[in-house]
Amino acid sequence: MLTPGVPIPFPLRWGFSTRQDAPETLPEPRLRQVHRCGVVEAPDALVEADGLWTSRVGVRIGVRVADCVPVLLAGPLADGTPWVAALHAGWRGATGYGDPDPGGGILRRGVARYRVLGGNPQDLAWACGPAIQACHFEVGPEVIEAARRDPSWREGLQAIGPGGKAHLDLHGLLKAQALDLGMDPAKDGSVGLCTMCRPDLLYSYRRGDTTGRQWGWIEIG
Ligand SMILES: [Zn+2]
Repeated sequence: MLTPGVPIPFPLRWGFSTRQDAPETLPEPRLRQVHRCGVVEAPDALVEADGLWTSRVGVRIGVRVADCVPVLLAGPLADGTPWVAALHAGWRGATGYGDPDPGGGILRRGVARYRVLGGNPQDLAWACGPAIQACHFEVGPEVIEAARRDPSWREGLQAIGPGGKAHLDLHGLLKAQALDLGMDPAKDGSVGLCTMCRPDLLYSYRRGDTTGRQWGWIEIG
């Protein structure tokens, strides 16, 4: 388990599982993830969405990933009620690509939900977890095109790799969005490990782990 190294706003457990975590420590699946931007209140039965939130104590929620970015959020609502969320952000989710809702990528949707409930983004502790990083995330032109449509885009988020193709910094894009959304860089506990670089610790779909996944999970209490 890799734990974000920032102060927490209320008692909670959170972090990113690795190959070494025992299955019984992981959340029960509540989402059928489809690389879109739906964010729902943690359901008791399996639903199609890519993000979920809860204010319930003792409910462990999470997303499953193997190259995509797991994003965790934790902050108080206006009346002090704890609120936590877990989001699944691959390039489609991060950019809102292919999602009919014009609300932007999944981080924008998740933070919008927090605001509607009375939260102030400045109060969020947040963390992006292990994912395929710019060192290995070679992408096609359609991915860069989708990322460029995001208001937070800057050209430094792409680099040309040794193969002559673009590499995308997905963590960098999400962090740029977070700052645009008013989140505090001092409350960023991201863990920047690359899933392709660390086969000892992490699953990577692109490297060939077609079934193994790690979790980004969070629980109040
Ligand atoms: Zn790498």
